[in-house]
Amino acid sequence: MIEQAQQLLKEYYGFDTFRPGQQEVIQHVLHQQDTVAIMPTGGGKSLCYQIPGLTLDGTAVIISPLISLMKDQVDALTSLGISATYINSSLRANEQRERMQALREGRYKFVYVAPERFETASFLETLASVKLSLIAFDEAHCISQWGHDFRPSYRSVVPALSRLEELPVIMALTATATEDVIRDIQQLLHVESDHVVNTGFARSNLAFHVVKGKDKNTFVTRYIKDRKQESGIIYATTRKQVEKVYDLLSDQGLSVAKYHAGLSEQDRKDAQNAFIQDESTVMVATNAFGMGIDKSNVRYVLHYALPMNIESYYQEAGRAGRDGEPSDCILLFGGQDIQMQKFLIDQSLMDEEKKVNEYKKLQAMINYCHTHNCLQTYILDYFNDKADVSDCGKCTNCLHAHEREDMTREAQMVLSCVKRMDERFGAGLVAKVLKGSNDKKIKQFRFDQLSTYGLMSGYTEKDLTNFIHFLVAEDVLTVGDSKYPILQLTKEAESVLKGQRQIWMQTSTVKQTEETDYEQE
Ligand code: ADP
Repeated sequence: MIEQAQQLLKEYYGFDTFRPGQQEVIQHVLHQQDTVAIMPTGGGKSLCYQIPGLTLDGTAVIISPLISLMKDQVDALTSLGISATYINSSLRANEQRERMQALREGRYKFVYVAPERFETASFLETLASVKLSLIAFDEAHCISQWGHDFRPSYRSVVPALSRLEELPVIMALTATATEDVIRDIQQLLHVESDHVVNTGFARSNLAFHVVKGKDKNTFVTRYIKDRKQESGIIYATTRKQVEKVYDLLSDQGLSVAKYHAGLSEQDRKDAQNAFIQDESTVMVATNAFGMGIDKSNVRYVLHYALPMNIESYYQEAGRAGRDGEPSDCILLFGGQDIQMQKFLIDQSLMDEEKKVNEYKKLQAMINYCHTHNCLQTYILDYFNDKADVSDCGKCTNCLHAHEREDMTREAQMVLSCVKRMDERFGAGLVAKVLKGSNDKKIKQFRFDQLSTYGLMSGYTEKDLTNFIHFLVAEDVLTVGDSKYPILQLTKEAESVLKGQRQIWMQTSTVKQTEETDYEQE
């Protein structure tokens, strides 16, 4: 059967070889083994279900979270001469009826549906009456409540499926999944560990950068002006921020489009088309933009503010360089962005347990901005990617890696200060104590009596706060799981205090690299 798959690869798509993981996934599915496929963005997940769908008898049902995603996929298949359709709420009632009828008659090889479709009895009845080749959950992380984009309707497909007498082989595909999420997907869909194909997430053509301590607007304007011919996306947190950055750039005569959920459907469509057809080179958008957009020549993805977690960051940043060409992923970091993300978590309707989990994920995102290790490696570690990756050599931190200084003694000073303050306060107050500040609170708690008071008076409070954040990123301090970041010592702290572990830090506080002009704090 795999020969047939190889033939289809050539015949329909014009490719000679499978990409990593594709053949393994396809093989499992052709052997009727339920499978989870984890591959990076642009890794070629669509082929993993399309080729088995073409090989096996019957209709393949693809569950997809976004209407725009479905239409693009269907257009792509139809242009290859493959009968495919989508059934969703964007269609008028009579169109839906006609497509359901055609589905009943087995006239499609592929049908794309939103998860909500499984809530209607008539759809389930139709599925029960036709021969199905497979059911695939695209963007399968949406099924897990530990995923960053959980959709309850995705999860409720599972009990609906159990009402079908004859289930075809099931697939789940995603580009962003932590181990928790993978385990969750596996459990829900009863997929054996041997049938989880994980090719890792590394994207060797992407250069990650964190930019700190610069005026964001000046940076963005200059960066875009230097790249007028290149396509790129700027992500902002709120609609208001999108409008602000859009105005900033369009006032400079730059070719820019905007996209957020507050715009009319027509405006969003026009903006998206203008960007895809290279009429506008820059897209300024909230995270509402991007899922399912297959634009291969995006040369940079710039985050104007801190994203909520590494999962969404990697997914959004990963929209750069799908063609494999070198591309930049830049994050502009400002301390005030943290408050915004905390506010968003706080205001959300999530239960307490979920909120704690979101704070934890946000902290990992903040640590990304403070670490001095390779940024790509940091992300892969976050996903527990065991692939043998060496440092990328091109991120902000790799570019500065040679300029390091032993900061073990300074780290010991900070740790003992945190300890003496009973591990009950945040970075701001610890920095004040170390600086020897006259702040009211210091007197109130009698911290001016501590032996660590004024111990690092040669540093500015800002430097000290940054150093503390860095120690959190190094995992010798933690800020706990709550909304209020209280510094505590980790197990690792012990070895630093005993001098068994050294702490190395980049010396350049504000230094520029010739090529990129990105600053380090
Ligand atoms: P994703 O994993 O992000 O869903 P896609 O399925 O959209 O990725 O594939 C990304 C691009 O890679 C598409 O343009 C697709 O045609 C191409 N592609 C997929 N498989 C192969 C292959 N075996 N050889 C060459 N190109 C491939």
